[in-house]
This record gives sequence, structure tokens and C-alpha cells, in this order.
Amino acid sequence: MGYCFGPVPSRRLGRSLGVDILPMKTCNLNCVYCELGITEKFTCERDEYIPVQEIKKDIETVLRSGRHPFDVLTFTASGEPCLHSRLGELISFAKQLSGKPVVVLTNGTLVSDPEVRDELCNTDILLPSLDAVLPGAFRRVNRPAECVKIDGIVKGMVALSRQFKGEMWLEVLIVKGINDRPEDIKALKQAVDEIKPNRIQLNSVARPPAEPWAKPLSRDRMEEIRNFLGSRAEVVIDFNRRLKEGFMPVVEVEIMETLKRRPMTTHDISEILGIKPETAEKVLEKMASAKVLKHENFQGRTYYRPHR
Ligand code: SF4
Repeated sequence: MGYCFGPVPSRRLGRSLGVDILPMKTCNLNCVYCELGITEKFTCERDEYIPVQEIKKDIETVLRSGRHPFDVLTFTASGEPCLHSRLGELISFAKQLSGKPVVVLTNGTLVSDPEVRDELCNTDILLPSLDAVLPGAFRRVNRPAECVKIDGIVKGMVALSRQFKGEMWLEVLIVKGINDRPEDIKALKQAVDEIKPNRIQLNSVARPPAEPWAKPLSRDRMEEIRNFLGSRAEVVIDFNRRLKEGFMPVVEVEIMETLKRRPMTTHDISEILGIKPETAEKVLEKMASAKVLKHENFQGRTYYRPHR
């Protein structure tokens, strides 16, 4: 089983070699906008869900092959990576072996635990999320497990930002009519002013969400919120940078491995594989006719996902 995927062109990080360290959709949240669908394993327990030796072996194989140039190595998950009880060990291993900046993409809920904070402090770039601070908005947008408390998360993030020496980019995802009320944004600003991340990255629903009724905010409203949050805030837009180098042969299994983690358009796939959009479309359509992939339309774009 491969745990590494990509490199995926990330709008924030460049070419990101992903390492997925949890079984599909293991999370303590069930966000309405989640591009992985509804949470299947809803848990707050940290555990070695995938044996750490297997993950290390896969990282080692991919790095030694030297096949795919990448800018950063990102720990992510088909769920919440901090739920893996040996995340700290994996971060140290990847840093030492790759010599590249290590990133962790997290929903931020477990930073209330000092042990998790210590583990995360070894990363170079930390991308935690915080979509809402008021309990009602937090419940509406993130639909947390019983054990997740927003007060503890905000306090944990403040403590982490004081302890952490790397770059912290806080992602805030706003869903129209769910966590965009003026009082929600005001409370968010108070928390963000205390947390003091290096950047605040404002996002909205950009890929097919878990709930079809989860809609994106208008560009104007996003800009309004960005202005309110201050100079560290930016609206992150779709990645549109072309890969400068690196051609990978079109291998359907690589397309499958990538699409298992997130739905993508023809454009995304052509960027990742470094091939012409026409070629990507041909392969994707072939896989769709064979019912290996299915189409999904969202906001006027066609995404591909594996048939489950
Ligand atoms: S968006 Fe992230 S945190 Fe939210 S349910 Fe999906 S995997 Fe979990």
C-alpha cells in the first residue's frame, strides 16, 4: 500500500509530496465542506491507525526513487493527521531523510493537548484550520465529535503559536450562510489577533463538498472579510502555476492514488503529471468510460473521483 502521493501542485506550497497517514476519512470533525465526503470513522482517539514502519518504508522508497521533484513534504490524511499517535516520530524521520521543509496540514483540534503541540513544533510550516470560534458557528460548519471543544482549541493555538518557531499559516474556510455572520467574523478576528499566525489564508468552498448545499462566498465578501482581518490575511485562490519541470509518465494507478485523496479537474491532473490537458482528458475520460472514475459537477467545473 502506498501512503505517499503526488507531488500535488498546492496553491500555498508549490509541489507538495503528500503522505497520507490514516485510513480513509478518520476524523474528529465532519465539516460540511469536506471534499472527502461524510466522516466514516468519527473518533477522538489518537492511535497508530497505520503501522509507522509501513509509512516510513513507503517514504523511503519514494525518496530513494528520486522520480518526482517536490518542494515540501506534507503530512496530511484522509482525515485528521494528528490522530496518528506517532506523528511526531514520522515528522522527525521525514525531515532527516528528505532534507526538505516538512509541513503538517491539520484541522487544529488536537492542539489543546500539550503532547501534540510538542510534536508539531518540529515542523517547518504548520497549516492549522480555524473556521469559527463561536460555538454555534463551529458546530454548524465543522460538526465536531462530542469531545472537541472550541475553547480548548483556541487556547491551544495561542499556546502553540508562542512555542512554535516555524511558519504558521492559519486557514479559515467560510461557507455562505453558515459561518459568515458579522458576529462570527468579529469573534474570529479576536481569536486570530491573539493567535498571531504569520498568515491568515481565507478560503471558501472550491471543490465538491460533503454537503451539496455548502456554497462558496462571493469574491467581494471574501475581500471584505480579508480587509477586516487585517494585513496578514489573504484570499487564497486556485492554484494556476505551471510546473516548471518534471515529466511523469501517465500512469493510471498514479491518477487513482491522487484522486483517492481529493477530486480533481482535468487541469489539476495535467499540472500534477506535467502533461498537456488534452492528454489528461483522454486518459481521464477513458477511465470514466471504464467506470473506474466518475464525473461530479461543482460550480461549473467537472471533477473526477474514483467510483467507490
Ligand atoms: S475537512 Fe478535514 S477536518 Fe473537516 S471533516 Fe474533512 S478531513 Fe476532517
